[in-house]
Amino acid sequence: MSARILVVEDEDRIREFINRGLTYEGYRVDAAPDGQTGLDMARENPPDLVLLDIMLPGIDGLEVCRRIRSVSDVPILMLTAKETIEDRVTGLDAGADDYLVKPFAFDELMARVRALLRRSQPVKPQVYRFADLELDTGTRQGTRNGRIFDLTAKEYELLELFMRHPRQVLTREVIFDHVWDYDFGGESNIIEVYVRYLRQKTEIDGQSRLIHTVRGIGYVLREE
Ligand code: CA
Repeated sequence: MSARILVVEDEDRIREFINRGLTYEGYRVDAAPDGQTGLDMARENPPDLVLLDIMLPGIDGLEVCRRIRSVSDVPILMLTAKETIEDRVTGLDAGADDYLVKPFAFDELMARVRALLRRSQPVKPQVYRFADLELDTGTRQGTRNGRIFDLTAKEYELLELFMRHPRQVLTREVIFDHVWDYDFGGESNIIEVYVRYLRQKTEIDGQSRLIHTVRGIGYVLREE
């Protein structure tokens, strides 16, 4: 079951932007336009993570944060238009786990969301399957044609991204943002290098290629 995320944001445009993006990523989303609605939703359907705007009509985000924190350890990511140190400290004092300054890119938000969810919930292991390739999220090992292979941390993240989006062309930007997060600086051929590692591991007995290059765009997991 995917994580449930509560979004409390009064600006329709931003709330919809976050809602659409998170839904696309496979999360279950509850969206509230004000603090009281957000508190009610949190009580009815306890979320796995809360995205909380600070400036809200009525009960503001800091108060919502304190009230949620008084009854729950759920990770809370504050969204703020302000970027002074004091606001950050106030938010963290109110019990927030992290904060993000507006305007932000969606991938930046996703990086924070994934990090907070990873910290808070050991996700139930599952096995992704594509053709004769398997990836176990518990052991973080792959299997091709019955042969098990180990993966480094980045190889695992990259292969998981492919396995979660089979037959879908992933652009270099998407891969970069998902696997290396937004704070990895500079131009590099790191994606090519890691794709090569994955090909070596998944084609060890001369099996057919599954990770294909889409020239000028990116890569795709598919059968020939
Ligand atoms: Ca606001």
